[in-house]
Amino acid sequence: MTKAQARKYGQEALASSGISNAPSESLWLLESVTGETASKLLASQGDELTAEQEKNFRDKIAERISGRPIQYITGKWEFYGREFYTAEGALIPRPETELLVDFALEYLKGRENPVIIDLCAGTGCIGLTLASLIPGSKVYLVEKYDEAFEILAKNARGVKNAVIIKGDILEDIASLGLPECDLLLSNPPYIKSSEIPALQTEVLREPVTALDGGEDGLTFYRALKKIIPSLCRGAAAFECGEDQGGDLMNMFPGSRLLRDCYGNVRVLVEGEDRC
Ligand code: GLN
Repeated sequence: MTKAQARKYGQEALASSGISNAPSESLWLLESVTGETASKLLASQGDELTAEQEKNFRDKIAERISGRPIQYITGKWEFYGREFYTAEGALIPRPETELLVDFALEYLKGRENPVIIDLCAGTGCIGLTLASLIPGSKVYLVEKYDEAFEILAKNARGVKNAVIIKGDILEDIASLGLPECDLLLSNPPYIKSSEIPALQTEVLREPVTALDGGEDGLTFYRALKKIIPSLCRGAAAFECGEDQGGDLMNMFPGSRLLRDCYGNVRVLVEGEDRC
C-alpha cells in the first residue's frame, strides 16, 4: 500500500464511521505511524509503507473508529504551539484552554520572575507552556492522580523552572508547601455529575476524575475560593463551563469572564486588583 493509498483508505474508513474531520485525522494517524511530516506525506506519490507500518496504520484507524480519541492514539497533541504527551490518564489539551495562557501572558507582562501555580494540572499544558514562554518564572504544578502525574512528569522533563507536586487540592493544601503566587491558574473538573453519561463518546474515554465537578459542577471552585487568600498575592484565573458564568460571578464578586476562541464564556478572572 502506498502512503497516498493509505491516506485515502483511512479517510474513507473514518468518514463512513461518521468522523467529521476524516481527511485530517487520517493524515495525522499516518504521520504518527511513519514519523513523517504532513507536507512530506501529502507530496509523496508512489512511496510504499512497510508491512509493519501498514498494519499499525490499519490498527490505529480501527481504534479511532471504536471511539478512542485521536489524541490518545497518537500519544501526543499540540497545545499553544507545543507538543504534549497525552494518555488515557489525563484530560486532552483543548484549544479553548489556550485562553488561560493568553490571559496569563498579558497579566504577567512586565513582572519580574513571577511565581505561577497551576492546580489540577493534568498533562501540565497550561503551566508548562507558561514556564517555557516566561523563562524567569517559577511554575508549580499540582496533580492528584498517579496516571496523570506520570504524564505530567514526562511533559515536565527538562523544564527547569517547573516544579511538579503530587497532591489533592480538596484536601490540606497547606501541606503541599506551595509558595505565594502572582497568578493562580486552574482548569478543574467542572461538569455536573448528572451530565457525565451524556457526554460525547470520545470525552467519555477521558478520565472522569478530570471532568466531574460534583452535583452542581462547582465543587472545585468552592475549594479554589478557599485557597486564594492563603496562596494568591495576584490574580486567579480558572477555566469554566460556558453556562457557569453567572454562578461563578456570584461566587467571586468583582471578577470578570473571558470568552474563548469559539465565542463561549470559558475563563473566570478574579483578583486583578490585588497587587
Ligand atoms: N472542557 C471539557 C469538556 O467540555 C471539560 C474540561 C473540564 O472539566 N475541565 O469536555
